[in-house]
Amino acid sequence: MSDQNPVFIPGPTNMPDSIRKACDMATLDHRSAAFGEIFGPAVANVKQILKTRTGEIVIFPASGTGGWEAAICNTLSPGDTVLAARHGMFSQRWIGLCQRHGLNVQVVETPWGEGCPVAAYGEALAADTGHSIKAVLVTHNETATGVRSDVAGVRAALDAADHPALLLVDGVSSVASMDFRMDDWGVDIAVTGSQKGFMLPAGLAIVGVSPKALATAESATLPRAFFDFRDMLNSYATGGYPYTPAVGLLNGLRLSSQMLLDEGLDNVFARHTRIATGVRHAVAAWGMTPYAASPALYSETVTAIRVPEGFNATDIVNRAATTYGVAFGVGLGEVAGKVFRIGHLGSLTDVMTLAGIATAEMAMADLGYPITLGSGVSAAQEFYRHGTGNAAQAAA
Ligand SMILES: *Cc1c(COP(=O)(O)O)cnc(C)c1O
Repeated sequence: MSDQNPVFIPGPTNMPDSIRKACDMATLDHRSAAFGEIFGPAVANVKQILKTRTGEIVIFPASGTGGWEAAICNTLSPGDTVLAARHGMFSQRWIGLCQRHGLNVQVVETPWGEGCPVAAYGEALAADTGHSIKAVLVTHNETATGVRSDVAGVRAALDAADHPALLLVDGVSSVASMDFRMDDWGVDIAVTGSQKGFMLPAGLAIVGVSPKALATAESATLPRAFFDFRDMLNSYATGGYPYTPAVGLLNGLRLSSQMLLDEGLDNVFARHTRIATGVRHAVAAWGMTPYAASPALYSETVTAIRVPEGFNATDIVNRAATTYGVAFGVGLGEVAGKVFRIGHLGSLTDVMTLAGIATAEMAMADLGYPITLGSGVSAAQEFYRHGTGNAAQAAA
C-alpha cells in the first residue's frame, strides 16, 4: 500500500502533515503548566464542535469502543434496561458491549440500511410507564451501512413520552464531519474518537457528558475504574489527569479542532456534503445504489455501495489494495461481500475524492464489473465543477 495515496476507509482517516507533526512531541511532564496549554484549548474546542455549553468533555486514552464503555458504566447499574436498535455492525457491537456488562438490552431489530427507528422507540418509551428503561442508545452514523439517524427525533420521542431515560449517542463517525448538536438535541453522552473526523491517529476516546449524566454517575453501580468520569473531572480541576494522558495525541487534537473551527463548522459540513454528493453521482453512473434505504438516510461521511448479484464486493477492496495501493472499506457482518465502502470524511478534497473514484473503477473493471471506465469520475467531475468549494480549497 503506497503511503502517497489517500485512504478511503471510514476511519482511520487521512492525516494532514501539520497534524502528524503536532502529535510528534518531545516528552512533556503532564503535571506541568505546559500540559494545561495543550489540554485546555483542546477541550474548549471540542465543546464548540459538539455544540455544548453545559456539558463536560472527558478524553480517555482509548478508542471509540472505550467511549461506549465509559458511557454505560458511568450511568447505569447491573440489570438496568437500555433501549437500542440493531441496524448495522456498530450498533450491534454497542449492544453486545452492554450485554457483556450485564445490562438488559431491549433490542429493536431493524433492517440494515435503515436508520434508528424513531417511531418504534417512541412506542417503546410510551409503553414504559414504569420508566424501567434507563438509557436510549442511538448510533448517529452507522458506519457499516452508510446510514445517518435522526437524533433530534429520538429526543422528541423521549420528550413526547415524558420519559427520563438518558440519551446516549455514538457519534464516532459523524462528529466533526456532520452537524452534531449536543445541547439542542438533549444528548446526555456523546461518544467519539480521534481517528475519524478529527483526522488523528486512533487513541483518544472523546466523550461529551451532560450535567444530568454526571449526576447519574453518583448512583450508577456498574464497576468502573479506568473510565470513571469523576476521577477524570476531579483531576481536571487541578489541571491534570488521574493517570498518564496521551500528550502527543492531545496536542494533535488541539490543532485539528482548531483547524476545523478555523475552516468554520458550517464549511466543514458543506465540504463533506459536497464530497459525498459527488461520490453518490459516481455510484449512480456505475448503475449501482447506496445501501442506505432512502436518500434522507445517506451518510455524508461514508457510502456503502451495493454491488451487482454474482460479484463479491470484498474483491474490489482487495484488488484496489494490492494493485493500486488504495484502501476502501469492506462490507461488515450481514453485508460482507454485498457492499464495499468509500469513506469520505476528514481531510479530503474534491480532487482527492476523484482519485478514489477512479481507483474503484479500475478495480471493478479488472474484475469484470459491467462499468465504463471514467463514467463515475466524469459524473463526479460535473458535480464538483459546479460546486462552490473549489476556490476555498485552492486558497487553503
Ligand atoms: C469506528 C466506529 C466505532 C469504533 O471505534 P473504535 O475507535 O474502532 O473503537 C464505533 N462506532 C462507530 C459508528 C464507528 O464508526
